[in-house]
This record gives sequence, structure tokens and C-alpha cells, in this order.
Amino acid sequence: MKCDLCSRDAVTYIRYNGTHLCGEHFMRYVDRRVKREIRKQIRVKAGDKIAVAVSGGKDSMVALRMVSSVFGPRNGVEVHAITIDEGIDGYRPPSVDIVRRYCEENGIEFHLRSFSELGVTMDEIAPLSRDSSPCTYCGVFRRRLMNDEARKIGATYLATGHNLDDMSQSVMMNFVRGDVERLARLGPHEKVQPGLIPRFLPLRLIPEKEALLYAIVSGMEFWDGECPYWKEALRNQYRDIVDDLEDRSPGARFSIMSSYDTLRPMLYREYPQSNLHLCDCGEPTVGSRCKSCELLEDARSRICGSDK
Ligand code: SF4
Ligand SMILES: [Zn+2]
Ligand SMILES: [Zn+2]
Repeated sequence: MKCDLCSRDAVTYIRYNGTHLCGEHFMRYVDRRVKREIRKQIRVKAGDKIAVAVSGGKDSMVALRMVSSVFGPRNGVEVHAITIDEGIDGYRPPSVDIVRRYCEENGIEFHLRSFSELGVTMDEIAPLSRDSSPCTYCGVFRRRLMNDEARKIGATYLATGHNLDDMSQSVMMNFVRGDVERLARLGPHEKVQPGLIPRFLPLRLIPEKEALLYAIVSGMEFWDGECPYWKEALRNQYRDIVDDLEDRSPGARFSIMSSYDTLRPMLYREYPQSNLHLCDCGEPTVGSRCKSCELLEDARSRICGSDK
């Protein structure tokens, strides 16, 4: 099959809009949409610092590449990459090396934080997490360290690599659970809150398959290992449901997000963000104690209990 826009061979068929694209036209197609999303979500000025949460997987590596190509030193903007080592043997160390190498080669400052600073590792927590998924602990601790490091950097914004599949699954999951308030806080963050670096999501409208193809076509190195605890993630059932919907009606993921975006202003009005204050650990929280301090106490007591 040939590209619809030139005489080169197509590398992909985009089912939801019926086009065949070669590598170059596919990359331009993705670049254009990501740049539009970035412009919609944030306002950056010279002197700003932007942090990118990078695990080394395809999505976050593509997000890092996009953010540093849109901003970077020529616009007077510093781009920093933050990687979190969750303490998962055999899974995280190789991906850390990939991020470090990419940053060295592209003049991006690299920051590494680790769960061991909190006195825990996911390898200790996972076997003891019983009824809750290990990912609940992992996500909360990761966000804490990420936000802390972005704050130390003095970042104006923090980018994450969430793609269209992740976002549409989160929307479905919160609908099904009836957690409408959480829907209002999915991001991108529109209000600047003390201590919380506002997040933006450059790939929120890029399907996972396209992020993968972009990483392959651009020739960038990325880590495609699978976390050993992945199967226990609660969101997997929503992944299957949304994949099935997309199979039956191509474009379903975009429709979920466009319905969500239409509802967003109403959600913000109905659930205005509470004013945050700082927990003893320095993280912003609505209550008196942040979620990560609560879960950390729980994780440490499980780990100590298992030592007896
Ligand atoms: S799959 Fe779960 S445990 Fe593994 S890295 Fe992701 S959030 Fe953490
Ligand atoms: Zn082409
Ligand atoms: Zn705390």
C-alpha cells in the first residue's frame, strides 16, 4: 500500500479516518496533533522550566521528545526529565539507563528519585498488598516523588506520557465507579494550587498504537519490558472494555474523550477544587494528612509485620 500523501510505501493504516501514511507523513500527523494539544493545555514563557515524567517506555519517551522539540533552549525554556525507580528488580534499572542516555545525548537534565528514599520498594509491597492492587501504592508514591522533584526543580508544569487509551480507560473507570468528583481532577490541571505542579498531557489524544509506531519510526530507544505486577492493575478490565468498543466502532476512544471534554466545564463548576494545604511531608493535601503518608504507614506496617 502507498501513502495517501506521497509515493512512498505506507507504514500504517489509520482505521478511524481511513488514511494510509508513510513514516514521514505519519510522524508529521502525530507532531501536528501533539503540538496543538500542548498549545491548548499550557502557556509557557521564556525562563520557564518544564519537567517531564519519564519511565523509559514508549509513551513517556515520545512525550519527552515532543516537549523538548517544542520548547528547549532556543525558546529560553529548560526541559528536565524525572524518572522514578520503584524498586522492581529487573524491570526498572534497564529503563533508567535508556532515559539517562537519551537525556545525555539531547542536553536534557536528568533527575532520578527512588522509592527507597521512602523506605519501601515495590518488590516488598507487592506480595503484601492483599486486597488492594500493588499499583495503588505505586501510583501514589510515584506521584509524590515526581511532584516533589518537579517542585525542587522549580518547574512551571509537569508533563506525563498518558495516551488516548489511558485517558479513555480512566474516564470509563470513573464513570463505572460513580466517582464523578475524580473525573473532574483527571487533568490537565487548569488551576495552579500551592505545592502542586500543574500537569499536562501532550499525548492525551494520541492512541497507544500511534505512540508505539512513532517511537519505532523515529528510531528512538525505549523500554518495552512489562512490570511483573501489571496483571494485578485494576484498570485492566477497562482496557479490555474500551479496546472492544474501539474494535466495534473505530473512533470510540476519541468520542469518549470528546464527551468528557464537553462535560469538563460542568464538572469543574459542580466540583470546584478544594483549597489544598501542605501535609507534614510537604505534599499538598485536602485533608490533614496526604494519601501517600497514609499508604506509606500502611505499607511499612505490612512490611514490618511480615518480618516478624
Ligand atoms: S504496573 Fe503497577 S506496580 Fe507496575 S510500575 Fe505500573 S503502577 Fe507500578
Ligand atoms: Zn507519505
Ligand atoms: Zn504527607
